[in-house]
Amino acid sequence: MVLFNPEMRDVIVGVSYLIAAVLFVTGLKGLTHPRTAVSGNVQSALGMLIAILVTLLEQRVVSFEWIIAGIALGTVVGAVWAIKVQMTGMPQLVALFNGFGGIASVLVATAEAWATIQSGNPLDKVTSLSIALSALIGAVTFTGSFVAFCKLQEVLIPSGAVTTVWLKGSNVILALLSLGLTICMVVAPGHLNVLWILCAVSLALGFTLVIPIGGADMPVVIALLNSYSGIAACATGFILNNNLLIITGSLVGASGIILTKIMCKAMNRSLTNVLFGGFGAVAASNVRTEDDVYAGKITSASADEAAMVLEGAQRVVIVPGYGMAVSQAQHAVCDLVDLLASRGVNVDFAIHPVAGRMPGHMNVLLAEADIPYEKMREMDDINPEFDSVDVVLVIGANDVVNPLAREDPTSPIAGMPILNVDKARTVMVIKRSLSPGFAGIPNPLFAADNTMMLFGDGKQMAVDITNALKEL
Ligand code: NDP
Repeated sequence: MVLFNPEMRDVIVGVSYLIAAVLFVTGLKGLTHPRTAVSGNVQSALGMLIAILVTLLEQRVVSFEWIIAGIALGTVVGAVWAIKVQMTGMPQLVALFNGFGGIASVLVATAEAWATIQSGNPLDKVTSLSIALSALIGAVTFTGSFVAFCKLQEVLIPSGAVTTVWLKGSNVILALLSLGLTICMVVAPGHLNVLWILCAVSLALGFTLVIPIGGADMPVVIALLNSYSGIAACATGFILNNNLLIITGSLVGASGIILTKIMCKAMNRSLTNVLFGGFGAVAASNVRTEDDVYAGKITSASADEAAMVLEGAQRVVIVPGYGMAVSQAQHAVCDLVDLLASRGVNVDFAIHPVAGRMPGHMNVLLAEADIPYEKMREMDDINPEFDSVDVVLVIGANDVVNPLAREDPTSPIAGMPILNVDKARTVMVIKRSLSPGFAGIPNPLFAADNTMMLFGDGKQMAVDITNALKEL
């Protein structure tokens, strides 16, 4: 920035940061609707480009070599991951990203503390508090995200819930220790050793906080850790006196908390229950066995029979779930929808907020197959209409259509809002077997009088039904 004097440079940096911040906010707003999501993404990316360029032009940059090497390495690794990752593996990838965000905050906080103390300058209390918070929250995010990744990927750490007393005890001890060390850093700033111990304790705390939680609840934990990574970045913004980092950190922190709340609400569970409840343990004690629910009551049907029922229907609603993502059935389903529509059948999709393994999972899959947004109806919007629907076709969904949530107050999913598909005239369920979904409990919908089970892989069954329908 040799072209400008320092005052002018500060003005340009400040105004550019403000423009970037506005772009982040409008970008986030755009992401709230599928129609504006792409332009929202572009606005946010533009904001980030401005932020990076302006930060690079600031005088604090000592050497560009390391920055260019970092950008090149990050771009290659990020691009390879983004291309290779399956949609069903997205929560793991987000966990890793959160973890990297957390450790970046720890590194910046400790480097800044070390550099200030080495240069003989005093650390004021506000900066010292920011360094402590950035290190604490960043370190918890790092190890917590690593554990979340391992549990979801089922590597290194068992994915189930671990509910031992010593883990609960160590959580309390480590949390109190980290709080005490943070207070020490504020009361007596300038002791690097306290910071190193705080980092070590916080790394251990992230580990013991997430280890007890079952892999099944990990998506919620990841949304929460995403929020933590934002709060850590915000604290880092205070250390560096960087307004843009404070704003972006706050945006990530707030949106992560909102997403966590939405997910908990859609599963009718409190955050405390997710973090300390041990979902698997509750499920085992209250559940009716598969024999109680299914014995002698299952009606199995073929693709040909399904095609015949669909041929006579006027209104069809398709309910996608995790199994549709696993079998990558979205394009085959799209072909079936096109064929039905060409024969005058009115087809909609009913989307449950937590169908699949992350919010919006189904919308993204269906958008990939060019299903129009107006065909994707939200749960509250379509639920009152199921009793006027001729056929509901459930593809690889289980818990989100389990009537036990509505009818059995002792069920582990009691109170979870569900799609009331059992009210339709005929229900067809495509899945490979009677094995349970994420919640691990049987589903009486499969044994209902108006239900036909179409056993098979989601994609293959959708193709078979389409072919059978063409021949009618
Ligand atoms: P579920 O996990 O309840 O059920 C998925 C079903 O898909 C299984 O029963 C399985 O049956 C079937 N399936 C698997 N592979 C295939 C295949 N290749 N072809 C056909 N079917 C297949 O999924 P839902 O979407 O109904 O519910 C989501 C669950 O995840 C809820 O319990 C929710 O609370 C939970 N959850 C969701 C989060 C989110 O943000 N979306 C976050 C945290 C939790 P089978 O093996 O017999 O084929």
